[in-house]
Amino acid sequence: MFKYIVIAVLGYLLFKIIKNGAYLAIENLFKNKQLDEPTDLVQCTQCQNFTSRELIKKYRKMDFCSEECIEKYQNSI
Ligand SMILES: [Zn+2]
Repeated sequence: MFKYIVIAVLGYLLFKIIKNGAYLAIENLFKNKQLDEPTDLVQCTQCQNFTSRELIKKYRKMDFCSEECIEKYQNSI
C-alpha cells in the first residue's frame, strides 16, 4: 500500500514539475517574442528624433520626445 502512495506522490510532483516547466517555456517564448518585435518608434515634432512610443510625450495630439521639446515647440509658435 505504501508503495502506491510513494508512486502517487512522485507522480504528482513530476506532473507539477512538468507543468511548471511548460509554463516557464511558454513564458520565455512570449518574452522572446516581445524582444523580437521591432520597437515602435515615433518621430518627435520638434527635434525630428525617433523615440520609443512608451517614452513619447503628447502635446496637442502631437508627439514629442521630451518636455524640453514641448517647451521649444511652444516658444517657436
Ligand atoms: Zn524632441
